[in-house]
Amino acid sequence: MQKKIKEIIKIIDENDNFLIVGHVGADGDSIGSVTALTRLLRIKNKKVRAYLNRDTLAPFSFLEVKGEEFYTDSKKLKADISPNEYILITLDSGNLERVDLDPDLIKNAQSIINIDHHEDNSCFGKINLVQADRAAVAEIIYNFAVEMINSKLPFAIAEPLATGIITDTGALRYENTTSRVLKILAELMDAGVDIYKINKKIFGSISYKALILKGLALATLTRSEDGKIAWLYVSRQMMHQAETDYTEGLVSMARDIEGVEIGILFTEEEEKEIKVSLRSNFYAEVNQLAAEFNGGGHPRAAGATVEKTLQQTINLVVEAAKKYV
Ligand code: 5GP
Ligand code: MN
Repeated sequence: MQKKIKEIIKIIDENDNFLIVGHVGADGDSIGSVTALTRLLRIKNKKVRAYLNRDTLAPFSFLEVKGEEFYTDSKKLKADISPNEYILITLDSGNLERVDLDPDLIKNAQSIINIDHHEDNSCFGKINLVQADRAAVAEIIYNFAVEMINSKLPFAIAEPLATGIITDTGALRYENTTSRVLKILAELMDAGVDIYKINKKIFGSISYKALILKGLALATLTRSEDGKIAWLYVSRQMMHQAETDYTEGLVSMARDIEGVEIGILFTEEEEKEIKVSLRSNFYAEVNQLAAEFNGGGHPRAAGATVEKTLQQTINLVVEAAKKYV
């Protein structure tokens, strides 16, 4: 793998123009990795553009991601960039459909470098650095930063990297929390990162409206007869009532129930567009369950979107989940 990192660094050295993007519905790893790699390439005096979806950025305002650093308007980006002018670097996206970018901008890239940690990555890039044993893409980008910067890691890169790692390890609680991850976090703390602040922002605080929605969702909690599957849902009506669509952290309530192996959250994005979030505790490979519905992800955290009604989707997915417990 080290060889591939060197190969990508060589491409970075030999080229000047890059576009960096994460995945749709970006989380802390996606946003943190895009932010850190963009800043890293800027230090190297590269012409680098990055796209981050405005809607997903809001909870990460503490990162001080400045508007002018990134494009949040896809149309503006399209107007500013010429076909074949740039190498596209995709982060944290298991397949092309997950890449949060206008399809024309994907098609018009000179080439694609795909950097990810999903084991079901479809290797859609010209170069694919897929390390499923890494807790977060931020852990992979950390390795680039160490290779590319000889002096101390700047805080502006260390903080987004820590955000990615903390997000994807559930604040160092998930089984992907390796000793390597803890060593990296120690290095990031030495670069000035306030781990308490990041933990507090991501896992230790919730908006009033989101808590109201959590209450409504919790009232829908249901368990399978054997108690191994638990699910809850968020309907459009509930989002309307609570005045928010923020569902982060809801699925873990189902997963964390004693005796439960698979926790599921169904979110009614549109009348026949249901986002399914899957989490497991010890053995169920929910990325395989997600794949049955054209989704994917990690063995313990995966997702899919199903184009059926909320009730139809619940029936189908819960029935399918029974094979895994
Ligand atoms: P979440 O439930 O937080 O939206 O997603 C958990 C994980 O599942 C994500 O980190 C991502 O790896 C994966 N995932 C979620 N939705 C999809 C999807 O529609 N397709 C694929 N391939 N992966 C998904
Ligand atoms: Mn990730």
